[in-house]
Amino acid sequence: MSKTTEAHAQLSFFESVNRNFDRAAVHTGLPKGLLAQIKACNAVYQVRFPVKIGNEYQVIEAYRVQHSHHRLPTKGGIRYSQKVNQDEVMALASLMTYKCAIVDVPFGGAKGGVKISPRSYTPAQLQKITRRYTTELIRKNFIGPGIDVPAPDYGTGAREMGWILDTYLTFKGGEIDAAGCVTGKPVNQNGIRGRTEATGRGVFYALREALSYKDDMDKLGLTTGMEGKRIAIQGLGNVGYHTGIICQEEGGALITCVAEYEGAIFNPKGLDIKALAKHRKETGSILDFPGAKNLTGRKDVLEIDCDVLIPAALENQIRVDNAPRVKAKIIAEAANGPITAAAEEILIEKGILIIPDMYCNAGGVTVSYFEWLKNLSHMRFGRMEKRFDQNTYHNLVALVERLTGKTIDNKERALLTKGADEIDLVRSGLEETMVTSYNEIRKVYKRKKAVQDLRTAAFINALGKIGSDYLALGIFP
Ligand code: NAD
Repeated sequence: MSKTTEAHAQLSFFESVNRNFDRAAVHTGLPKGLLAQIKACNAVYQVRFPVKIGNEYQVIEAYRVQHSHHRLPTKGGIRYSQKVNQDEVMALASLMTYKCAIVDVPFGGAKGGVKISPRSYTPAQLQKITRRYTTELIRKNFIGPGIDVPAPDYGTGAREMGWILDTYLTFKGGEIDAAGCVTGKPVNQNGIRGRTEATGRGVFYALREALSYKDDMDKLGLTTGMEGKRIAIQGLGNVGYHTGIICQEEGGALITCVAEYEGAIFNPKGLDIKALAKHRKETGSILDFPGAKNLTGRKDVLEIDCDVLIPAALENQIRVDNAPRVKAKIIAEAANGPITAAAEEILIEKGILIIPDMYCNAGGVTVSYFEWLKNLSHMRFGRMEKRFDQNTYHNLVALVERLTGKTIDNKERALLTKGADEIDLVRSGLEETMVTSYNEIRKVYKRKKAVQDLRTAAFINALGKIGSDYLALGIFP
């Protein structure tokens, strides 16, 4: 291990993100002061509040960090995990700033964290904690549709977002845009169709795009296309599960290895992810899944022989100790920060293509943006134009039939005359975003000789956009 790699192995998560920032900053030509401002966390709120659990009071530690106010509102998920700490929330908030810039979502970055293990609480207790946390955010003006808009992250989902909205409405019921105070809500509580699967679907589009370039795949010794590619997934939660299902069903990939808390399983012929999730629900474990082999430990997934590794659990999973043994040709970072800065140096040296987190998992925030827009417009996407479009398409089909004297069969007619529903528009908007952003990043990667990896290219892209926002404000001459 080189001296610099050794030094980088000691970095915290936030320092690791900033080290990646610095690597890209030298290529941007932006003034030093401006770069320092972009890098800094603008506001950090740490709070401790009491919640009665059973007969006892527990003091809960929680955070909300707004990394950048260059665009408002700020946006970012809320994590429930025993490992939450200020450094982690700051790192995740800063990644949100860069992520939003990369996918052209007009928000500053933020993140929240509550230091609890959600498995240790009943739903009623979790609701109590969520409501109290939201109240603390309201008190300090750290939440609101134009201020700061949370979303789900590790350990939280639509249920928690519904509780947050309800608490917000209790205090701010008269606010006309109140529903936009949080995203990732249940669809029947002002949510949007397609949000739950959005991050996983975004990972699928990102990977599909990366796999489509022959020159890049030639370098890795891979063929183009997702069909038949062997994929290993760490973490079968929201992101890992949907990524797996979509890569399998729409991409034709083989999900050969999956790891969860309790262990890892392997089947070279592919694991049926839907059946695996059912098996886990019924037995409480992914282990002993019919047709699959149990591996020794859950960490084996990171070192398994596969084409694509998708870490979809937590940060700091690939480190200097296991990086040399990673066999995947591509790593698609569905989780935030799964590769430490030091490990990345080893992986780049090995020629592995890393699709960086701040782009790869941006599908969630992209669809959150659509949800926020829906809340502000108070109307479902597609409601105004769907019927009008359908009638127009029917008229066109009738005209073609009249002019050609041929009849279009019912299946084709249904396809040709379909007006777009909300889910169609959300998916198409997400696909467009992920494809366009990949190509922007890849262009930088190909254009700049000194840039060795997609992460640095993504940072250069993000810093250029955020920098131009600040320059337009006239603060930095
Ligand atoms: P989740 O809580 O739904 O799922 C995470 C899963 O990982 C859990 O099932 C957990 O048991 C498993 N896990 C934890 N440690 C593991 C380990 N060492 N080995 C194997 N499995 C392990 O969380 P999520 O929402 O899917 O988030 C996962 C990652 O994706 C996080 O890094 C999060 O920040 C990131 N992310 C999530 C979203 C989103 O929309 N939910 C958006 C962007 C990024």
